[in-house]
Amino acid sequence: MSISPEPTPVPNSSGIRITALETVIPDHVMPGLLLLRIHTDAGVIGHGETYYAPHGVAALLHDWMGRRLLGADPLSIEHHWRFLYERAAAFGARGAEMRAISAIDLALWDILGQVCNQPVWQLLGGRAREKVRVYNSSGGPSYGRRMGAAADQGWPGHGDIGKPGPLEDNWASNHAAGDLAEELLEEGYTAMKFWTFDRAYHEFGGAFLPWSAVKACVKPMEEVRNRVGDRMEILLDGHGFFQMPAALRIAEVMRDLRPLWLEDVMRVENSDALADFRDKAGVPIAVSEMLCSREDYRCVLEKRAADYVMIDPTWVGGISETRRLAEFAQTYNLPATMHDCTGPLTLFAGLHVATAVPNVVFQESVRAHIRTFYSRLIETNVTVENGFALPPTAPGLGTRLLPSLFSTASAGYRISRSTS
Ligand SMILES: [Mg+2]
Repeated sequence: MSISPEPTPVPNSSGIRITALETVIPDHVMPGLLLLRIHTDAGVIGHGETYYAPHGVAALLHDWMGRRLLGADPLSIEHHWRFLYERAAAFGARGAEMRAISAIDLALWDILGQVCNQPVWQLLGGRAREKVRVYNSSGGPSYGRRMGAAADQGWPGHGDIGKPGPLEDNWASNHAAGDLAEELLEEGYTAMKFWTFDRAYHEFGGAFLPWSAVKACVKPMEEVRNRVGDRMEILLDGHGFFQMPAALRIAEVMRDLRPLWLEDVMRVENSDALADFRDKAGVPIAVSEMLCSREDYRCVLEKRAADYVMIDPTWVGGISETRRLAEFAQTYNLPATMHDCTGPLTLFAGLHVATAVPNVVFQESVRAHIRTFYSRLIETNVTVENGFALPPTAPGLGTRLLPSLFSTASAGYRISRSTS
């Protein structure tokens, strides 16, 4: 008996057909983003998104995956997911292929929600919590956005540290961390994430960190502990920069600060090495939005390499796979946590899963992004009140990409239409 899906689409049970795929790269706002609209003959438009190497993802969507989707039933979400995954897996599905599947999955859930007139979280099983606890990550208004050269998205983990000023949280987390912690507490945030070791990697590389650099990078977090005590949870993201000896030095100086977690201090390819690090670190470990397949998460869970399971909905396979992984983590008694910093629909997708799946404990958020440029991408922004994000209430994802972005004159604009 075959366990694969039928090679051709199943009979159309909704009576709705996909008529076009449309993509654009908003390089004047966030050059790494790929925005997707899936049009239907019912007039409903689904919205999706992914982040990184957007031209590559667009090529997969239009030149390859569109052959499956155009003319098909948009509500056969799982059928399309499995078919595209299995065909992509013949060449290795991690990377651009999985990001393309993620963008499609978001758009199809958005269509389903609009057809049913329900928010996605309702269709995932209903509300498991009234609101979603968020923490603030250290991105400033310019992080992830290099506007100087068109379509230059920069390198991951090498974002702009910013300058002194309002919402310049990357700069402030390095140079005025105590003040930033007090400001965030006043707004209701009770957890903040630091990226202060990025600068040490940029100077020294990942193999060896002198103690002077380690102590300089931990100083802002010590300042927060001294200033506000335990009222603020401290998280550290190493962006996968370090090897074991440097990672252990970082863990050693973090121990006294009792962080909520250390995240991606080491790269994540080797789950045995991650488990070894967790054994020696003496602090909780979060792993990782950099894992982009179910199998990678299985290895980390079975090797006992994590205390928290971090998931990015638009890198790992969309809302469908994020929900599965969050449930999977619960079988190991490990909470899941949603990644952000990579675009507004990623945040909305995470909120839907976090609202519906009891095992999700935190949603990452970047207040600088939400308040300075998400309104240039989406119609309805996310609402964060007193450290919690409110579940979206409108049908589908609960927001729409601005129609004005999808102009034939826009960067990277492409459209593929059904011919039948
Ligand atoms: Mg991270």
